[in-house]
Amino acid sequence: MKLVTRRQWGARSARSQAGYLASTRGVKVHYTGSYVDPRLADDHGRCAAMMRQIQNGHMDGNGWNDIGYSFAVCPHRYVYEGRGLHALPAANGPGLNTGHYAVLGMVGNKGLVTPTDDMLHGIRDAIEHVRAKGGAGGEVKGHRDGYSTDCPGAKLYAWVKRGAPRPKGGGTPPKPPAPPEDVLEILFNAGIRKPLTVPPGGRVSVPWEAEYADPSNVHGGGPSWTPKAKEWALVTLGTVVDGQAAGEKLKHVLAEYEKGGSARVKDHFGEDKIGDGTRVEYTLSGLMWLRDDRGYRVDLVNEGARPVTVTKAHLRVAR
Ligand SMILES: [Zn+2]
Ligand SMILES: [Zn+2]
Repeated sequence: MKLVTRRQWGARSARSQAGYLASTRGVKVHYTGSYVDPRLADDHGRCAAMMRQIQNGHMDGNGWNDIGYSFAVCPHRYVYEGRGLHALPAANGPGLNTGHYAVLGMVGNKGLVTPTDDMLHGIRDAIEHVRAKGGAGGEVKGHRDGYSTDCPGAKLYAWVKRGAPRPKGGGTPPKPPAPPEDVLEILFNAGIRKPLTVPPGGRVSVPWEAEYADPSNVHGGGPSWTPKAKEWALVTLGTVVDGQAAGEKLKHVLAEYEKGGSARVKDHFGEDKIGDGTRVEYTLSGLMWLRDDRGYRVDLVNEGARPVTVTKAHLRVAR
């Protein structure tokens, strides 16, 4: 389970400790009951902020001691810790909180209304987590079961009525960041086939073992590529990074090396990408003057204290 702790999503402290919950009959599934920004579906960077917004609404609007849910699940299968295990939730309605944990799927009645397969997997992950660690029984119900509300909405409720099954196919992988649309000619387009780990203090060249387009054969294999002639090119890099602790720095650098060698001549341009403790998608794009007697690489420099894993990387060089 991809758990995001309260500290990781920036939760406020509860005003007072929730009542102890030794066991429950099961779980009740919820939705927000309001508008959810559809951009959430493609941008995991928005999900922690959504949690903070929900918590503020529950504490400042409803006057509750804390966020009302036990756990909440974003479209990307991350399970956010709300009140957590063995804590009385508030979201099920008066008198109904001792019977069930409350698990939110981050969809609403307007905007983003359809749960992704990853969200259903995540809710299922949360259900199995409270069964294994939180004394929850086997029931899976909707908020509307026993309480007057349309929550958790038609789609999640239909899924609950089917027994909240895992979707087939293991869920959709997160999309790599899309480079901008344009009418340029592609020189080189590549990605990685397996996750790349950058140790603390390490500098790693992205290997580009997945070649999507290389029409003029600028890539001989390995991390370097060399154009056939001197020219300007638009270089666009996208990465998806896991395990980058909040505030830690992973530099993305477009670097020039000796042709056919591993001696670095200089760094062209780059950006310091700062982690927020969750999966982060980064993009970097710029014009670069390329020489036909150099090798060019993308280097990742981990200036943080822990290893960082790059699960996706995509490079496009175009003129
Ligand atoms: Zn509800
Ligand atoms: Zn997310």
